[in-house]
Amino acid sequence: MNENRILNFIDGAYTEGSSGRTFEDRNPASNRLVARVHEAGEADVDRAVTAARAALDGEWGTFDAARRAALLHKVADGIMARKDEFAAAERADTGKLKGPTAMIEIPRGAEQFRVFADIVKHCHAETIETTMPDGGMAINYAQRVPKGVIAAICPWNVPFVLMTWKVAPALACGNAIVVKPSEETPATAALLGEIMNEAGVPAGVYNVVQGFGPDSAGAFLTSHPGVDAITFTGETRTGEAIMRSAATGARAVSLELGGKNAAIVFADCDFEKAIMGTMTSVFFNCGQICFGTERVYVERPIYERFVAALKDKVKGLRHGDPADPNTTMAPLISLGHREKVLSYYHQAMADGATVVTGGGIPDMAADWADGAWIEPTIWTDLPEDAAVVREEIFGPCCRIAPFDDEGEIVALANNNDYGLAASVWSQDVSRANRVASKLEVGVVWINSWMIRDLRTPFGGFKKSGLGREGGVHSLEFYTETRNVCVKL
Ligand code: NDP
Repeated sequence: MNENRILNFIDGAYTEGSSGRTFEDRNPASNRLVARVHEAGEADVDRAVTAARAALDGEWGTFDAARRAALLHKVADGIMARKDEFAAAERADTGKLKGPTAMIEIPRGAEQFRVFADIVKHCHAETIETTMPDGGMAINYAQRVPKGVIAAICPWNVPFVLMTWKVAPALACGNAIVVKPSEETPATAALLGEIMNEAGVPAGVYNVVQGFGPDSAGAFLTSHPGVDAITFTGETRTGEAIMRSAATGARAVSLELGGKNAAIVFADCDFEKAIMGTMTSVFFNCGQICFGTERVYVERPIYERFVAALKDKVKGLRHGDPADPNTTMAPLISLGHREKVLSYYHQAMADGATVVTGGGIPDMAADWADGAWIEPTIWTDLPEDAAVVREEIFGPCCRIAPFDDEGEIVALANNNDYGLAASVWSQDVSRANRVASKLEVGVVWINSWMIRDLRTPFGGFKKSGLGREGGVHSLEFYTETRNVCVKL
């Protein structure tokens, strides 16, 4: 990655690409220009897919799982050796706080290469003995083979983690990949190209094309006939468009989509833990987490106390220099996204919300005044059909409402088009598990939030996604299984 320029990475080399166009990458904390990004044209996407295919047909295709695993461990080591550089690039693109980026997100990205390398190296396939009607025997054994060229379309909210979440299992399984990062966050995907080259990953195995969605790199890639499968994380509407692209050629698709997640707080919870957990789940990363909570339901006996305590904590959040360890609230990803979130803030008022705290734009010091800052916001007194209760906002805000019993809360929590995640806060373990078993979501956290073991299934019910990744579930997506039958 050259200074102030972010390039495409195709067939092991950085390239400006053929479109002749660049676009701006701005730091949302200050709105200052970070770099100009060279947009890939259709010819570049074609070159990337062709390079990926050639890699599969070449040396990369001869690597066994152990050899791939050794290489991916080197990739992880390479990321960790330059983790400050990755963290700085990620922070410049997103305005994220320094601590979580350097301590959690970049190391997590590196760890994914290690974990998926080891899962693939140690996994085994099934063998089945068949007795035939004439008494003869056959043995069936299954083989996992790479799916081929994978297209990965990635979002901006946790760019490096969500990109490596796709790249690591795809390569561990022996595929080649073409990544299209969000146009908001092009840097770390480009930087990873250097690590791949340093580690000795053959050219063409990992490629990055920069650009936008429709009529740009995203659409060129997902409609390219040389792509065998598409993995996508982003909004549900975009996921639907990608699924339509994938229908041509009947290609496999994995969709990790939006959420409108509920926190369910019973009166018998550990109050302090429920407050702290809910604080984090609503406001971490400025609310831009697919698993983030935007609907909070609190059992009536502790409702007033819970609202007051959460308000108190929110008042303690601090905007400011994202590199300052005392800053606890990051900006949104862009001024454009702030417009969207603010429109929901206005809609909540129009729908009669009581604004417990927040609702606007904070006053910022001159250095940060042009950034995409927004106040953390809590609403009460809104009906279930209000837009901010039904639709994903992807900002630092939640609506809190009281509930009276278990049956009611299960119905309320499930009464949404999305089904990604939920958290349940109760010290009654039986009740917490009973409620969890009735929630129409892909992940339930009991007395916690966002503990993510890479071996667990990850994905959503309803409009929150299609398919599961994580652990052996990633193998299901990134490989084809062949059955070989031997008559004895
Ligand atoms: P978007 O759906 O807007 O974009 C995701 C990616 O798709 C971007 O790279 C985008 O390009 C690209 N894209 C857009 N249109 C097309 C198209 N027609 N064809 C191909 N590619 C296209 O999502 P965001 O980046 O705004 O991310 C936020 C969303 O992601 C939220 O809804 C959130 O819930 C969801 N998400 C889900 C997660 C999950 O695991 N379920 C995890 C994290 C986020 P560009 O934007 O550059 O134009």
